[in-house]
Amino acid sequence: MKVVVVGAGYAGTFAANRVAKKVKGAEVTVVNARPEFVERIRLHQQIAGTAAAATPLTSMLRAGVRTRIGTVEKIGDGTLTLDDGESIDFDHLFLAVGSTVRPLAGTVPVGTWEGAEQARTALAALPAGSAVTVVGGGPTGIETATEVADARPDVQVRLIGSSVAACLSGGARRRALAALRRLGVEVLDDGVEEAAGGVVRLRSGRDLPSDLTLWAIVEGVPELAARSGLEVDAEGRVVVDEYLRSVTDGRIFAVGDCAGVPGSRFGCQTAAPQARAAADALARLAGGREPEPYSLRYVARCVSLGRKDAVAQFTHPDDSLKDGHLKGGTAVAFKRIVYVGTKYGTRKAVGA
Ligand SMILES: Cc1cc2nc3c(=O)[nH]c(=O)nc-3n(C[C@H](O)[C@H](O)[C@H](O)COP(=O)(O)OP(=O)(O)OC[C@H]3O[C@@H](n4cnc5c(N)ncnc54)[C@H](O)[C@@H]3O)c2cc1C
Repeated sequence: MKVVVVGAGYAGTFAANRVAKKVKGAEVTVVNARPEFVERIRLHQQIAGTAAAATPLTSMLRAGVRTRIGTVEKIGDGTLTLDDGESIDFDHLFLAVGSTVRPLAGTVPVGTWEGAEQARTALAALPAGSAVTVVGGGPTGIETATEVADARPDVQVRLIGSSVAACLSGGARRRALAALRRLGVEVLDDGVEEAAGGVVRLRSGRDLPSDLTLWAIVEGVPELAARSGLEVDAEGRVVVDEYLRSVTDGRIFAVGDCAGVPGSRFGCQTAAPQARAAADALARLAGGREPEPYSLRYVARCVSLGRKDAVAQFTHPDDSLKDGHLKGGTAVAFKRIVYVGTKYGTRKAVGA
């Protein structure tokens, strides 16, 4: 059985390893745009210079899994086409191409490897007293602003977003806002309309100096699925059945950010369980057994607040927020388990 996995982030790498482990006789090929496995959840650290987010992809894959570096242009009837014109046939395909960023002109995106590298170089070159603007009041914006402020106390960091930290509630939200204040991050409830010539223009009409403007919003998914004729939802994510198979082509599983599971959010906490469920569904089908349906099972939303603080708000399995949260050193340790455990689990294809 030929199994091709498109995209080697958390979902694709986990799925490839799990299929190689559980589906007897499967020939697994991973097609990825880069030769590295990028730990996207550490890109804010890559920018601030507090961690390296890339690992050789081959070191993340089980022996026997083949890799092909390239970009898939289109998926057809049991075959796909790469940007260099080569075709690869498949019996089953796992689509795991993640999510995208749509940065405003003049800003640098945090959510891609290329953007994070550009931001890291630009930040390192900024002299003391420079102004850094982070756009986006969600977890990526908060993690980026606090990481940069912690690593570079000599620059002025500003975070601009509507309802900053609304992804948290109660004490967890207050804790995150207090950490931003403690690290000297100016928080503005506003939006950025334009960024050019060292100035950002806010929705409220204010102009502010900005020597580096970071776009910390992740939205949308690659157009590959739609372009290939798979049914997609309003956000462009693949519409799937209860086993994470495309409703257009049952040979294709969609996992991670690009899978249109109602109620799911972009997150490695979505990617690994989906990859596991889809790979196990294929293993059961291949063995002539009924697959088990996938269901959401979130645990927490964990947001780092620089290197010495974090907050982890517990959630119900459907991702609605619980009241309880961890903070300080306990949350920092929890977040470290997320980083290390997710990478380990992805490599070993366990624990999701
Ligand atoms: C700074 C930051 C912090 C984050 N922190 C957290 C966190 O703490 N917890 C959490 O749960 N989530 C977090 N997230 C979100 C999380 O990183 C993503 O939800 C997760 O990476 C999704 O995994 P994925 O495998 O679906 O996609 P990705 O990790 O994005 O991987 C997709 C892969 O597909 C490849 N690809 C794309 N198109 C093609 C193509 N056409 N052909 C070949 N290859 C292709 C890409 O190169 C990439 O390797 C964070 C995100 C950011 C940016």
